[in-house]
Amino acid sequence: MRLILLGPPGGGKGTQGKMLAARLAVPHISTGDILRQEIETGTDLGRKARALIDKGNLVSDAMINAIVHQRLRLPDVAHGFILDGYPRTVPQALKLEEVNREFHMPLDAALDLEVDETELIRRISGRRVCSGCGATFHLTSMPPIQPTRCDHCGSPLTHREDDAPEAIRRRLQIYRLRTQPLIDFYRDRKILFAVDTRRGVEHTFEAILRILGLDLEPREDL
Ligand code: AMP
Repeated sequence: MRLILLGPPGGGKGTQGKMLAARLAVPHISTGDILRQEIETGTDLGRKARALIDKGNLVSDAMINAIVHQRLRLPDVAHGFILDGYPRTVPQALKLEEVNREFHMPLDAALDLEVDETELIRRISGRRVCSGCGATFHLTSMPPIQPTRCDHCGSPLTHREDDAPEAIRRRLQIYRLRTQPLIDFYRDRKILFAVDTRRGVEHTFEAILRILGLDLEPREDL
């Protein structure tokens, strides 16, 4: 199963991406996570990306295309992948089509996680990310046991720099301008599925499984 997750920042791509990856036993490839990792390790790429990310801007198509192209060469994508946060622009979507053709791995579905703007701001402002393992929490809807520590590894929880109000506004503006056109792009290719995320994480996950024609309960043989 080869999927991409569309939708605005705070739409739940990371949460649903991780759940789907576990359910389908395929890698969850988040370009945001890859870039944050580069920043953390202090690579050249990370340094270039940081200033853009912190202000809520996109990194260049060329940079992100190269990252994804390289990632899709790894053998763990043989049985599928979940792309989260890529593509984000039409040129990226065209590049992905080219790469998919080259590797003979067409996409099965583009899932558009729909959510209104007031809810987005609520989700993003309460979001906390583990500085150790990258797990995500939400102060009200998915609270950690201790408010400042990760339930899984105990590392401190952080508030992403680009989740600050000014950066959020910028990210939403860019989303409307650069990423929303992908909805028509994938509708034209007949692989677009809209997912209503208003009823919370579990309902959204079930809706996605239904769209993909998968059992709601994990099967023993998977
Ligand atoms: P995310 O975690 O998906 O919200 O990504 C965080 C930030 O990383 C974005 O706001 C962008 O600055 C950058 N980024 C992630 N994916 C892409 C992409 N496909 N194209 C350009 N910039 C990206």
